[in-house]
Amino acid sequence: MEPQSLIGQRVDVLDKGWVELVDMMPHPATGVSGDRAIVNAARVSFMGESKGDDADKKLLFYLLRNAHTSPFEMVEFKFRVRAPLITWWQWVRHRTFHFQSVNAQSGRYTPFEEDDFYVPSVWRKQAKSNKQASEGELEDEVNEAFLQQLTAHYEQSHKLYSEALENGVSKEMARLFLPGFSVYYTWVIKVDAHNLMGWLKLRLASDAQYEIRVYADAIYEHFFKPALPWTAEAFDSYILHPQS
Ligand SMILES: Cc1cc2nc3c(=O)[nH]c(=O)nc-3n(C[C@H](O)[C@H](O)[C@H](O)COP(=O)(O)OP(=O)(O)OC[C@H]3O[C@@H](n4cnc5c(N)ncnc54)[C@H](O)[C@@H]3O)c2cc1C
Repeated sequence: MEPQSLIGQRVDVLDKGWVELVDMMPHPATGVSGDRAIVNAARVSFMGESKGDDADKKLLFYLLRNAHTSPFEMVEFKFRVRAPLITWWQWVRHRTFHFQSVNAQSGRYTPFEEDDFYVPSVWRKQAKSNKQASEGELEDEVNEAFLQQLTAHYEQSHKLYSEALENGVSKEMARLFLPGFSVYYTWVIKVDAHNLMGWLKLRLASDAQYEIRVYADAIYEHFFKPALPWTAEAFDSYILHPQS
């Protein structure tokens, strides 16, 4: 897909979430690709510009291989994300992602709807070797029973929330009735390509929680790769799957 048509694209993630590319720099309308912007930034060291595709791609690979990372900060992505808070809390631990800029929905202002909750398709079991991770799935019957209980829990929570609002409780306090890890939130966040690669490396990894890994995968496959094909190739070779 051409970078121009990536802007405004929304990719569905989990049961009700999504990630959308709101904007990027360089904007495709400038005619300068993100990969070229990285190379051009590096060549400012000796006041040069593009030397054609082969030489430019070679330079970009050299930069990433040798951790000459600042040129990759010349490319920026702005995303709008809808994800459960279980994902948000892991995402915002990445200071170089969210500290750059983030704006989030206000639960003090916008009331939560009845279906604003994450319903997984399966319950994963506690992993035996990693106390933080999951593996495998519950048996079908038990899985279904727990999913029904979860849905009933959401309905009851939202009912209490709505009753509190109807009785004059403020939105900022009524939300105490809502299951905090499960509720969907929407936020806008901006990141440069260098720090996005740091986030992708950690959150595409198999030990990352599924509920954030799927967002990392959506960003990588649907936005990062098509926007920065040379960088994605180098990132895959040197960072995701380095040959020892
Ligand atoms: C699988 C997994 C499990 C995790 N489990 C836990 C857990 O149990 N508990 C928990 O609290 N967190 C946990 N985390 C979060 C983890 O500890 C990091 O906070 C998170 O991954 C962000 O990584 P980061 O600091 O490299 O990213 P960023 O905050 O984006 O920082 C990127 C890099 O910038 C530099 N940097 C940024 N800020 C500073 C600073 N103030 N001082 C010095 N250098 C800085 C560092 O080199 C850093 O690596 C987990 C993360 C993963 C991926």
